[in-house]
Amino acid sequence: MSMNDRAARFDALDQSSIDVLIVGAGINGASTFRELTLNGVSVLLVDSGDYCAGASAAPSRLIHGGLKYLENGEFRLVAESTHERNRLLLNAPHLVKPLPCTVPFDSWFGGLFSSAFRFLRLPHGQFRKRGTVIVKLGLMIYDWLGRKQRAMPVHTVRGRTQTHDLFPLLDPSVIASATYYDALITQPERLCLELVIDAERDSHSTGVALNYARVIGREGEQVVIRDEIDPGAEFQCESVAGGTSRDRSRQERRRHDRPHPGQGKREIRVTPRLVINAAGPWIDKVNRLFGIDQRYIGGSKGSHLILDHPELHAGLNGHMLYFETGDNRLCLAYPIGDRVLVGTTDIRIDDPDDARCEPEEVDYLFDVLAKLLPGVSIEPAHIVYRYSGVRPLPYAGDVGIGSVSRDHSIEVEEPNDERPFAIASLIGGKWTTFRAFGEVAADLALDRLRRTRTRHTHDLAIGGGRGFPRDGDLSSITAQLSATHELSPDIIANLLQRHGCNLAVVEAVSAKGGATPLSSAPAFLTGEIRYLCRHEAVARLEDLVFRRTTLALEGRAGDAVVNEIGAIAAAILGWDSDRRDREVANCKARLALDSG
Ligand SMILES: Cc1cc2nc3c(=O)[nH]c(=O)nc-3n(C[C@H](O)[C@H](O)[C@H](O)COP(=O)(O)OP(=O)(O)OC[C@H]3O[C@@H](n4cnc5c(N)ncnc54)[C@H](O)[C@@H]3O)c2cc1C
Repeated sequence: MSMNDRAARFDALDQSSIDVLIVGAGINGASTFRELTLNGVSVLLVDSGDYCAGASAAPSRLIHGGLKYLENGEFRLVAESTHERNRLLLNAPHLVKPLPCTVPFDSWFGGLFSSAFRFLRLPHGQFRKRGTVIVKLGLMIYDWLGRKQRAMPVHTVRGRTQTHDLFPLLDPSVIASATYYDALITQPERLCLELVIDAERDSHSTGVALNYARVIGREGEQVVIRDEIDPGAEFQCESVAGGTSRDRSRQERRRHDRPHPGQGKREIRVTPRLVINAAGPWIDKVNRLFGIDQRYIGGSKGSHLILDHPELHAGLNGHMLYFETGDNRLCLAYPIGDRVLVGTTDIRIDDPDDARCEPEEVDYLFDVLAKLLPGVSIEPAHIVYRYSGVRPLPYAGDVGIGSVSRDHSIEVEEPNDERPFAIASLIGGKWTTFRAFGEVAADLALDRLRRTRTRHTHDLAIGGGRGFPRDGDLSSITAQLSATHELSPDIIANLLQRHGCNLAVVEAVSAKGGATPLSSAPAFLTGEIRYLCRHEAVARLEDLVFRRTTLALEGRAGDAVVNEIGAIAAAILGWDSDRRDREVANCKARLALDSG
């Protein structure tokens, strides 16, 4: 059954029994799915929306050890994160790349005492900005913790002259800087999907994944799942096209929260032996569907901006600037393609459906950039895309949000008279540590199912990372594929950057008409978009524009692009003109909310 065969999948699953139901196909659900399918467990993975469309689509895109967590004494987390970072550089080199990160300083000794007090969990009063010495100490520990499978250089410290030579846009008050290496994930949405695709393929049918399949409740031993895109029911694809922009924004926010908006849609029932609640910021809401009233999540909203700003792009010199703000937070700016990513805010939020990038957050990010780079003029007109998401942090009462642990944990609700299965909630975690978290969750499930682990994922390449040169040198593979498929080296290089060594995409592009560039976005090819529609569980047009490609992120998804891709998707997915028009309208409405 192909990933696109939704109807057949729903039919085959109805009234079935499975070992594990995973609710939520963000990175942690997808990772747990891969661990369990690899070990022969029958698993159903469902998400109420698309794969990787929740918190996992909203990160700063860093695969990092978490330098700042050292100050909170979280050595275990930093050690795990740096190891996982190093592994991802090896297992997913097509999407995870080294990133030089530079911290600018305006003092040598600032923050020594407050950082030490914070580390010792003593009252630290007013924070002072961290100076060169305290960060240098932290970086020595950071390098040491990340020594296993090290793939990148250790840190360096520069004085004033060298710093300003390298970053001429920096404020003159900067007296030194330190550069260390972490990693950047270019397309998190694709990596998450690749995990799901790998897992399904390798499971030989014991693992099934469904996007747009919402868990809506429990009936006895069965869990009820609703198909959010049932062509048999009245088509109710998020009708965000009408109304004022504020109405549309509200509707969009409520997409995870409407009780029963899809009357008449197909529902199926499955009987699991164990439920894994991997709903990230929605964990408490999903638990309530099972009658569990626990507060596990204390969400924190973070927003990012993508800027089209060539001067700023050039001034970053290929580095991430990781800088402390006046309110003692850490913000970042780095080049991503020919754009600049700027982030992030950290605002307590109760309802993840309310997460939007608000104008005050834009002002905040502009303000902190202006203090760091005073000569650069940054205007709202430079914003081509903005996104926001909620960190699924553990609920910690009144503790300052910056001090809440970014570590992961699992809470289990044991079965009771009404509910014969246990529910394990996956709380917290970072993108970087998804493999380790999925491994722990899978071990818990294997233990409860009385199964033994037979396979591990430490060294398992992901998706297009299989066969991708680890040193990133694509010249010989490009020449070889270009010759065998009669495609230009530029086309091959682009496909390798986006899809790694997934040669099926290259074949699709080399088929008749496949190499024709989209007239509205020539970097993308007709055969490539067709391939994504056929093989990557595209159910809505926005899946293609926001997650299967980087068109939305890069601010390149204008009306013409949406119309052209909408026509290709309609032809491949069999949408009639009514459905196509609604998909196009919804996609444009969503872009209007998130662009500029
Ligand atoms: C602003 C921000 C910046 C971050 N930066 C970084 C970073 O740079 N590096 C890093 O390592 N980490 C970062 N993180 C953390 C990381 O992104 C998250 O911890 C991680 O993505 C959480 O993944 P998840 O799978 O637990 O949750 P999600 O990705 O939110 O997945 C949960 C899924 O559950 C689904 N769901 C909800 N209700 C239901 C239901 N009823 N039925 C079915 N499905 C349902 C949702 O649709 C959603 O897709 C950042 C997070 C944020 C928000």
